[in-house]
Amino acid sequence: MSTNNAPALPVLIVGGGIGGLAVAVALSKKGIASQVLEQSEVFAEIGAGIQLGPNVFRAFRALGVYDAVCDKAVFVDDLIMMDSVSGTPIKKIPLGETIRERFKDPYAVIHRADLHQAFVSACEASALITLTTNTSVESYAQAGDVVTVTTKGGNEIKGCAVIGADGLWSSVRAQMHGNEKPRVSGHIAYRAVLPIDEVPESVKWNAATLWAGPRNHLVHYPLRNWELFNLVAVFHSDRYEEGWNAVGAKDEMMRCFEGVDERPMSMLKKVDSWRMWVLCDRDPIEDWSDGRVTLLGDAAHPMLQYFAQGACMASEDAVCLANMVEQSEGDFTAAFLAYQKTRYLRTARVQMTARFLGDVYHAAGPVRELRNMVFGGITPEDADPHAGLAWLYGGGLSTAG
Ligand SMILES: Cc1cc2nc3c(=O)[nH]c(=O)nc-3n(C[C@H](O)[C@H](O)[C@H](O)COP(=O)(O)OP(=O)(O)OC[C@H]3O[C@@H](n4cnc5c(N)ncnc54)[C@H](O)[C@@H]3O)c2cc1C
Repeated sequence: MSTNNAPALPVLIVGGGIGGLAVAVALSKKGIASQVLEQSEVFAEIGAGIQLGPNVFRAFRALGVYDAVCDKAVFVDDLIMMDSVSGTPIKKIPLGETIRERFKDPYAVIHRADLHQAFVSACEASALITLTTNTSVESYAQAGDVVTVTTKGGNEIKGCAVIGADGLWSSVRAQMHGNEKPRVSGHIAYRAVLPIDEVPESVKWNAATLWAGPRNHLVHYPLRNWELFNLVAVFHSDRYEEGWNAVGAKDEMMRCFEGVDERPMSMLKKVDSWRMWVLCDRDPIEDWSDGRVTLLGDAAHPMLQYFAQGACMASEDAVCLANMVEQSEGDFTAAFLAYQKTRYLRTARVQMTARFLGDVYHAAGPVRELRNMVFGGITPEDADPHAGLAWLYGGGLSTAG
């Protein structure tokens, strides 16, 4: 969009997580000013890892953060699924050169704080982006070309459009679609990072590894140039607590992992202090927009993490949304409709696949045997071991405009 057509007021972005910052950067690349309104005191991410599929690296290129991300990422060689009852491998998906050849981009893992910081730095380097903390948005109102948000303290802030990137418990979404609680999956995630010296040699693999057990699974991978190991232990539980940082109860977790292979068990035993997430999602919707207001990332399509794609989808959303705003020459209502139309089926497919994978990972009895047979049937030696993932890793920005 030429500077002459740029709106006088900034786009207001509610939420400064990965999605909110990514869309601020994406809009700045089109010459559009934005103000990011974050409820927390600082722009920060919690200490845990995140996996990045090749599809998100295309978004990172468009956003100009590709090199900053690659600098901090660990490029894992394989995705490995182990049966944690028998201790035997179920499936290995090669991720190194074969994935670069197939999808032209890598698969990597990164500390969340490092990914978030890459976006904070890109925002700080742009004169078009204002970052504002301690600002919790409660509601919005539209009049003509102006959208006004009201904060918890009663302040009003005006913009030319609003993007709700305020996560699973989005207040923007609540106003648009009603304040329905998220769907509680019955699964709970405990996360921790382990200094590399404490990681048993038997699992020091350059891989994103998933140990699948009955009603539980453990994921681990290296982080920060192999200084840390990321651990995410997931099991069935009735607990419900909002937020991403509650303290976990180790004894409850250890009970749920009783009987699993000694290798994952040895890592669980090493950590005393766990942080807890109650895992929730929502059903897909196709209508993310209300005039000059739209949703992005988890606010639009919250998903379980079993496909490791939530932040990847938020980054793709950001690039797509900015492209649509540019193409519509500042008609935000039209741009937001085009954006949601382009994105909703792809993100819905990821949401629904993630739910399915949760059941697959936690299978017991004959379903476990079936899983091992079906997943084990696709081997790294197959002509195209990534065929089933081509829609995800090869899609996104090619169809996102
Ligand atoms: C255990 C686990 C593992 C995961 N692993 C992966 C992975 O490997 N790969 C991957 O791609 N994804 C992964 N995800 C998903 C990913 O973390 C999320 O999809 C992603 O963080 C969503 O980003 P977001 O910016 O949309 O929302 P959020 O990260 O939730 O950010 C929302 C922001 O909005 C702020 N906010 C909320 N309400 C308001 C308000 N009213 N006013 C102002 N600010 C507000 C919040 O403080 C926060 O900063 C995982 C998730 C979990 C739980």
